[in-house]
Amino acid sequence: MTTSTRGDVKDLSLAPRGKDRIEWAAKDMPVLRLIRERFAKEQPLKGVRMSGCLHITTETANLAITLKAGGADLVLCASNPLSTQDDVAAALVSEYGIPTYAIKGEDEKTYYSHINSVLDHNPQMTMDDGCDLVSTLHTTRTDLIPGIIGGMEETTTGVIRLHSMEKQGVLRFPVLAVNDSDTKHLFDNRYGTGQSTLDAIIRSTNVLLAGRTIVVFGYGWCGRGVASRAHGHGANVIVCEVDPTRALEAVMDGYRVMPGVEAAALGDIFITVTGDINVIDQAHMEKMKDGALIANSGHFNDEINIPALEKLATGKRRVRDFVDEYTYADGRHVHLLAEGRLVNLSAAEGHPASVMDMSFANQALGSEFMLNHAKELKPQVYTLPQDLDKEIARLKLHAMGIKFDTLTEEQEKYLNSWESGT
Ligand code: SAH
Repeated sequence: MTTSTRGDVKDLSLAPRGKDRIEWAAKDMPVLRLIRERFAKEQPLKGVRMSGCLHITTETANLAITLKAGGADLVLCASNPLSTQDDVAAALVSEYGIPTYAIKGEDEKTYYSHINSVLDHNPQMTMDDGCDLVSTLHTTRTDLIPGIIGGMEETTTGVIRLHSMEKQGVLRFPVLAVNDSDTKHLFDNRYGTGQSTLDAIIRSTNVLLAGRTIVVFGYGWCGRGVASRAHGHGANVIVCEVDPTRALEAVMDGYRVMPGVEAAALGDIFITVTGDINVIDQAHMEKMKDGALIANSGHFNDEINIPALEKLATGKRRVRDFVDEYTYADGRHVHLLAEGRLVNLSAAEGHPASVMDMSFANQALGSEFMLNHAKELKPQVYTLPQDLDKEIARLKLHAMGIKFDTLTEEQEKYLNSWESGT
């Protein structure tokens, strides 16, 4: 372990491998590359102190390099104890000069000491994935708040926490909900989570998905992605929902919908993507078949009631990397993946670069927007202006070599008129 003012990472000798992988991801991040080239010339973030709490992956490294190219004085820490890629953390420190505090598997105490280390940077802007920086600032580090211009939030869970802060009147600086850009959640949450979740289940277990019954809890953008990709693998998909409209959509998308406790007896693989607590509870776990796999791809590890599972089980052993086998008194085994932490970033590499390209283009343009507009913003949750969102989609299509239509003058006029009817 290497601790210094330049960060706290597992092993700096991993840096060359990290650099190779960061460069590999860069090839699939053309929109971010264009932003980086402009940032390098225009220096829009010159001298701005930024603290980021994000999953430390090859994709995040490319965002960090972009912000630094734009002049930002940036430090990073992990947004989840299990999602750090140690070689990337090492490369950020020694190859790119970006202080990084992140070690895969760090305990909760270290996790929070890393959060405090990046706050010691006295940031003017924050970047969160899950709202931990903003909530720490509003609880134990309030002295730093006067120096803060604004922040950015990457994920649904963080946005939910921010809205509740705003509603209670406690939020003290503006935050951009990057997650709410169309070019973020329609792609990252749906296609990113859809692929990376199954990738993690396959990598950690090597199970065949075809013919299995996969139960997906939650039919938001993440749940939709997971369900459609599982169906594509030939699985029988059951969706469990609490929102009637979403449950109905799942039915009409062709999935079986039923209460979770009924699905519990039928499923081979269970995946939670709700952002809620105890979605898989004792009542579900009691009914599960021998050999069932349980994975979480959303929020924190409390979507699964792990304490209840620990109580139900008479034995527990690690049978593969990221797979814990729990044995019940009647001899049944149930397997928990990645200790219930978000499986896609713990047991695989998170979403692929191609989709993070758009998420992080939103972060980069969001930082620039926040810096230029913070004076006009109140301590509320904002979304990126739609023209920036559309521009990201346009650049992505261009990079993919896909042309599309534009409105003719006649069509534009027609769409803006109301006079002509039948
Ligand atoms: N913060 C919560 C849940 C959020 S994880 C937790 O830690 O439990 C989901 C977020 O991870 C998404 O918003 C997505 O943008 C981000 N993510 C997914 N793949 C990533 C990757 N390869 N690199 C960086 N962030 C990634």
